[in-house]
Amino acid sequence: MGEFELIVRYFKRPTRHAVLGIGDDCALLQPTPGCQMAISSDMLVEGRHFFADVDPFALGHKALAVNLSDLAACGARPLAFTLALALPKADAAWLEPFSRGLLSLADAHDCELVGGDTTKGPLNICITVFGEVPVVNGRSQALLRSGAKVGDDIYVSGTLGDARLALEGLRGQLALPQGLLARARQRLETPTPRIALGMALRGIATAAIDVSDGLLGDLGHVLEASNVGACIDTTIAIGLMACDADDLEAATTPAARLACILAGGDDYELAFTASPDVRDAVQNAAAASSTRVTRIGQIQTETGLRLVDAQGAPITNLYRSFDHFA
Ligand code: ADP
Ligand code: MG
Repeated sequence: MGEFELIVRYFKRPTRHAVLGIGDDCALLQPTPGCQMAISSDMLVEGRHFFADVDPFALGHKALAVNLSDLAACGARPLAFTLALALPKADAAWLEPFSRGLLSLADAHDCELVGGDTTKGPLNICITVFGEVPVVNGRSQALLRSGAKVGDDIYVSGTLGDARLALEGLRGQLALPQGLLARARQRLETPTPRIALGMALRGIATAAIDVSDGLLGDLGHVLEASNVGACIDTTIAIGLMACDADDLEAATTPAARLACILAGGDDYELAFTASPDVRDAVQNAAAASSTRVTRIGQIQTETGLRLVDAQGAPITNLYRSFDHFA
């Protein structure tokens, strides 16, 4: 199978919204009048972001999911994406499930594959997504990292820490029972981008980010961009893992769970801030998008991030987020 046959067989489909899709030198998109484009790229490298033997269907899903998660964090609606793919060989047994995983998530979000590039090389997947956010009365509705205000509540969507738990189980750093590992692994390999929640939070959240490198580090970016500080209640945070409590408690210590939750990464949930005046609106946005949200702390004047226990007493913060070059 040659390069062009590969593209046509696995990636080219009839266009739906794009003016021009795969097959010419450029794709053409027609932006909706009154909207801004939101654009983001993410690269997945074998050995760095995924194991060589990972299920190709899950890998296709995840490659797009991590990109859609950035659109979610901006409150953007997905439109289209491009796929730059380096492959060691044109292997139908790999390409078929990979493209199915990729394109089924794309269909679920009505996000079209409009172009890309295909070369031979060590497996490497780079996706660029295009989305849009409305401009209302001259103001962009995009959720940014820089909008958090002193006194705002801090929330996270869904569950945190399970992806990291799976990683430790797969690496043999933690001995996990089969069932627990299987459930945690789903969160690692097929994360859910919170697109509907991000869109529902437009005009409600003051700031947002997606949690890819670990909650404390990612929230730290919001604090820095907003020039504020925060405190997080660890007694609430400890309840954020999805995995069944009994299994978890037998297999892990509270300190290990908290490390997964606060600094684990690969969760692709949203962390966001909103005024206490709009708590009802936040709950409505959560209900409308069928996404759980949990209030875990508050934005404060004093810069930096503090962890507290149930009594409000400070806990030493020993957690570090992921950094490729640290
Ligand atoms: P060019 O050489 O002009 O960059 P290519 O020959 O590389 O174009 O690609 C041919 C067409 O196939 C282009 O429309 C390109 O966007 C598309 N394409 C290439 N690789 C992929 C891919 N992995 N997924 C989707 N579209 C792709
Ligand atoms: Mg090319």
